[in-house]
Amino acid sequence: MITTRPRGTADILPEEAGRWRFVEDTFRRICREYNYREIRTPVFEHTELFERGVGDTTDIVEKEMYTFRDRGDRSVSLRPEGTAPVVRAYLESNLHSGPQPVKLYYTGAMFRYDKPQAGRYRQFHQLGVEALGSSHPALDAEMIAMIMDFYGRLGLKGLELHINSVGCPRCRLALKDELQNYLRPHAGELCINCKNRLERNPLRVLDCKEKNCDRIAVNAPTTLDCLCPDCGDHFDAVKEYLDRLGVVYQVDGRLVRGLDYYTHTAFEVMSTDIGSQSSIGGGGRYNGLVEACGGPPAPGVGFALGIERILLAMKGRGAYFPAGDRPDVFVVSADAECEKDAFDLLFALRKCGLGADMDYMGRSLKAQMKFAGKTGCRFVVILGGDELKRGSASVKDMTNGSQIELPLKGLAEEIKKLIGGN
Ligand code: AMP
Repeated sequence: MITTRPRGTADILPEEAGRWRFVEDTFRRICREYNYREIRTPVFEHTELFERGVGDTTDIVEKEMYTFRDRGDRSVSLRPEGTAPVVRAYLESNLHSGPQPVKLYYTGAMFRYDKPQAGRYRQFHQLGVEALGSSHPALDAEMIAMIMDFYGRLGLKGLELHINSVGCPRCRLALKDELQNYLRPHAGELCINCKNRLERNPLRVLDCKEKNCDRIAVNAPTTLDCLCPDCGDHFDAVKEYLDRLGVVYQVDGRLVRGLDYYTHTAFEVMSTDIGSQSSIGGGGRYNGLVEACGGPPAPGVGFALGIERILLAMKGRGAYFPAGDRPDVFVVSADAECEKDAFDLLFALRKCGLGADMDYMGRSLKAQMKFAGKTGCRFVVILGGDELKRGSASVKDMTNGSQIELPLKGLAEEIKKLIGGN
């Protein structure tokens, strides 16, 4: 057991970690360009935050949370999503009384106890943004455009962007009635979950993936049939902004997403490259959440993207990844006498900002050269007795195998020049 990780978790080994960093760095860059600032919240919160902020009729809260009592007998939960914690922090730190909107982004691990499968983990990682304090439809459009811009920069193509409006609580009440009237005669054909949802949260039947429910939902009334004039105007404005930006989308009246606090715009991005767990990101507006979390009425809109699924989609597309971490220089000593000089040189190179390493296994010269090659270093610096006497070292360029002798004094700068020249 101690050499096996828990189900639904993953070790991200160095080569893969480089790919993660590429995705995260691209995300951070885009957040800066769109003026979202980073926030870091705890990995666990009071359970009640998610019960209220995600909704206690949602699958996440009903079945998927890692909830436990701590040693002080308080119920805490590992965060299953990032929005409720960000809203909690927005209220707790009084960000709501400063200039609005407050535009924030986060990255980090989320936890859901679900059946693991390809693209579905119990610990997974999200990149998310939230804009709090404005109900302007341009902000909904900015977010949707931002997701598509981000995916584009990662080389993801063939994505489907679905958008919808789930209206306000008034529209939802009307829809709930209409849906219940439509669904009740079909109750016997619905899956066990949807039978339960029928009375409590019938909207969720619209996005159930079970075959029978899906068949029945095709002809069901959708959120779009029940939008009040204000919600209709908001949705039209979002679409107009998207059209101005040339963002291609499909309107999908059955897109309701899993969380209770969504109002107005909902959106989801699907990749056809990653099998059944095809959602690589989604979000929407949640004008009721801040109040539900105990704050003043304040609108919000946000999205969350799953890093694991983004990477799956990128691999499915054969997208470009930059090379992982490699040392710039590997220092090799021709014999044991040079080892201490090699050690000094190693630290001198590092001090000048080069990534450098040497052998710590007592390898022969030949084995050191072979090992250096495996590290993927750009240059090998070979220290031998004769060269040392001359105050120089041999420098081998691993990209073409050429070798030159260079003075030890100023070596780091010379190597930097050579790297910079390429
Ligand atoms: P959600 O918070 O459910 O709207 O999910 C937002 C995004 O997080 C999804 O589009 C997925 O990319 C990702 N995601 C959600 N749940 C999981 C999971 N169990 N494993 C991996 N990624 C997930």
